[in-house]
Amino acid sequence: KIAFLFRLFDNKASSASLDTAVMLETEETVEAETSSEKTGKRESLLPAEDRIVVEKLKYDVLCGICCEIISHPRQCLSGHAYCGDCVAKCIAKEMSCPSCRRTLTEETVARNLMLEEYIKEFLVHCQYHYEYPDEEDPEAIVDEAGCPEEIPYHLLDQHERDCKYSWIRCPFTYKVDVIHKVRKLSWQEHKDICEFRPSICRYCDACHPYCSLKEHEAKCPKLPVKCPKCSESFLYKDAGTHKEKWCKEELITCPFSKHGCSAKFLRKETDQH
Ligand SMILES: [Zn+2]
Ligand SMILES: [Zn+2]
Ligand SMILES: [Zn+2]
Ligand SMILES: [Zn+2]
Ligand SMILES: [Zn+2]
Ligand SMILES: [Zn+2]
Ligand SMILES: [Zn+2]
Repeated sequence: KIAFLFRLFDNKASSASLDTAVMLETEETVEAETSSEKTGKRESLLPAEDRIVVEKLKYDVLCGICCEIISHPRQCLSGHAYCGDCVAKCIAKEMSCPSCRRTLTEETVARNLMLEEYIKEFLVHCQYHYEYPDEEDPEAIVDEAGCPEEIPYHLLDQHERDCKYSWIRCPFTYKVDVIHKVRKLSWQEHKDICEFRPSICRYCDACHPYCSLKEHEAKCPKLPVKCPKCSESFLYKDAGTHKEKWCKEELITCPFSKHGCSAKFLRKETDQH
């Protein structure tokens, strides 16, 4: 058995390098490929701010400047909080607080420890809680079979890397024009029922996808067959030669037909004829 690697499906191109590589074993060697090479495009991803679990938040956790979840909050003298980076940009451009127009300077903006803690701990759903009916469209709906967990915001990245509900591409479909998207947690189950799982031909020991094994075995070169006319046994690959050259019960035309004899008889009667 040859072990090979395949990368997890991950919607975040930026975290692709952090993906846990999963080791699998199959009968065949399959080239390691990244999901982005394979799918050609990133899947749509609902922004974290749209995945907040609780309806009513104690604080507004969205930054009024960048509209994303506030990171490293800084607030003006009136207490309006924005991301540290967003505030820094305002200061650099000598812009005032978008809410109250108070001047923003390094000396007048402050941290807000309570908000910092709160932002770390409020709960969000991971991206595998949702499905994206249209791959071109970031519109998401709740996936009933998706990840049910509610995750503290600061642990979201870590959770999504390891989420049991994340998707992997079934490696048995690398060589065919089909993509099986399988959740990490159902891989063990899927690998035993996948229609493309590697299966061994009982006659020639070659490996074939399960769904085409029957077809192969019916015509395997090493399939033992018996001639229905003379009952002799041979391998399937020799069936043609047997009929054309050896079968004693095969109806043949006289070897001297080009000299005018049109007789037909069984091969075993050649000498007699
Ligand atoms: Zn911001
Ligand atoms: Zn303000
Ligand atoms: Zn999850
Ligand atoms: Zn599969
Ligand atoms: Zn075979
Ligand atoms: Zn025969
Ligand atoms: Zn003849």
